[in-house]
Amino acid sequence: MRLSIGIDIGGTKIAMGAVQEDGNILRKHEFPTDVARGPEYATKQIIAYTTKLIEEFPNIIGIGIGCPGPLDSKKGIVRNPPNLKSWHGYPLVQNIDSAFHLPIRLLNDADAAAFGEYYFTYRKTFKHVLFVTVSTGIGGGIIINGSLYEGALSGAGELGHSVVAPNGPICGCGKRGCLEALASGMALQRIWMQQLASAEIPFDPQWDTRDLFTQAERNEPIAVEVIDQATTNLSLGLSQAIQTLNPELLILGGGVIIGQPAFYEKVCEKLPHYLLDQHKQHLVIEKASYGTMAGVIGAAATILSNDCEMEET
Ligand code: BGC
Ligand code: ZN
Repeated sequence: MRLSIGIDIGGTKIAMGAVQEDGNILRKHEFPTDVARGPEYATKQIIAYTTKLIEEFPNIIGIGIGCPGPLDSKKGIVRNPPNLKSWHGYPLVQNIDSAFHLPIRLLNDADAAAFGEYYFTYRKTFKHVLFVTVSTGIGGGIIINGSLYEGALSGAGELGHSVVAPNGPICGCGKRGCLEALASGMALQRIWMQQLASAEIPFDPQWDTRDLFTQAERNEPIAVEVIDQATTNLSLGLSQAIQTLNPELLILGGGVIIGQPAFYEKVCEKLPHYLLDQHKQHLVIEKASYGTMAGVIGAAATILSNDCEMEET
């Protein structure tokens, strides 16, 4: 069976693996994104593990890479992702390509995950799919009529940068009140700490989103309120995308959705209130079937599918 390497670059960690044509992940590896050491260091780590995989599996036919946008998928260059500042302008494909002689494809991380979920799990049942990841950032991938839609400059589905509160907090992209600044993993943590500080409640600055959810389970009022606000904002943002695209299936993924069932359930509960009947009647909502590995299998799928169901680039 043919295999491809799938790489999912995130603001917090990089995951990669060898993926079979049937979506099975044979090997996987994860390491933290060391933003301070920049993309050159990450590239070295990626090349080292890829070399190992190619030695073990001579039937690897290519390398798919999902990375937060904005990026230029045609030129293989990372443009200016808000959560990977040290990567701005980095020619990722060229630097990996010089080490291997295999086809390489770079695309937006959420687009990769959308395509992987569609290709391996849903392509027989759905044709119009919206995938949204809630992790360090928030991103979206769109399947229209069975094809991944990347937009004019690989920027389709940048749902995390939809403004839902014009006077809201500054986002990493420079605008105010983006969804990502209000409902991503990073935003949840920041908003929670700010609210604890203004209520003069002592806290440990090391606390992360897991601690936030633990406190919410114990009904700590600030934690409950922070999650309530974030899920309302996320549902608002999702409703705009759903009414624009009218998907049959909404897949939610990313570390916050997969790791925090309470967050996912709240979004499923709130979202229908913001949708027209026509849009909610036939909308199925699912968690990413590959969990936090959706990006890895998706990046690999773009190679394994021979692009047969993807847009021409
Ligand atoms: C980026 C998106 C990406 C998302 C999740 C956002 O900040 O703009 O392109 O999909 O983070 O990584
Ligand atoms: Zn933004």
